Amino acid sequence: MRTLFIAANWKMNPPPDGAFAARSPYRPRTDLDIVIFPTFLDMKTSVAGGLRTGGQCGYPEQTGAHTGDISMAMLKNIGCTHVLCGHSERRSQHGESNEDVAAQVKAASDAGLLPVACVGETLEQRQDGQEETIVRAQVRALPLDRDLIIAYEPVWAISGGDPKKQAITADDAQKMHAFIRSLLPRSATTRIIYGGSMKPPNARDLLEQPDIDGGLVGGASLNPQAFGEIVKIAAAIGKRH
Ligand code: PEP
Repeated sequence: MRTLFIAANWKMNPPPDGAFAARSPYRPRTDLDIVIFPTFLDMKTSVAGGLRTGGQCGYPEQTGAHTGDISMAMLKNIGCTHVLCGHSERRSQHGESNEDVAAQVKAASDAGLLPVACVGETLEQRQDGQEETIVRAQVRALPLDRDLIIAYEPVWAISGGDPKKQAITADDAQKMHAFIRSLLPRSATTRIIYGGSMKPPNARDLLEQPDIDGGLVGGASLNPQAFGEIVKIAAAIGKRH
């Protein structure tokens, strides 16, 4: 049974108004897994406010000379339950390689966090017909013997704050998710979520696909109403058998 997983990646933005209120759509639920990824500065408030909270990144070593970094154990100690590993913005802006991402996933899992490992091809790679080759290499580099969630995020579909950006079609997303599932040793139970311009008008089509187990939502997660609509759509679809 795979419970749908809906994540809000707030990136380098403050929490949306009312995020910690009693009836906020960011609150945990029993029928879905809802996890919020705030900045490091907002993490304590998020945990204290009762939200299931994750780190947007974490360093694979425990302590040491790593200016600006924070370890997986530190995330765990502050009350985080999850961590994103290898988001495409970390790969492109911070030079994180497949090997770095694998080390992060191992360290996260050792620290007792559930890693959400992000994979996905660029537009050029898709135009060259390389999307499966790239994603296969990204997935195979991961320690697949660990409990983890995989987020398929085609880099070219990530909004970067542009509300006009379009998601991949639900059919193409399903095709890639099925391909990723075929690479997994624990294919029946590992959740593969989709990210890249997921918003209320396309969420149902995407989430109804048999191999899409949730969404990693960036831009739309900063709007409580839009995020709440995605949560409602996911709740109506329910779990995967
Ligand atoms: C993301 O960057 O993880 C993401 C999915 O962003 P957006 O929803 O804005 O495309």
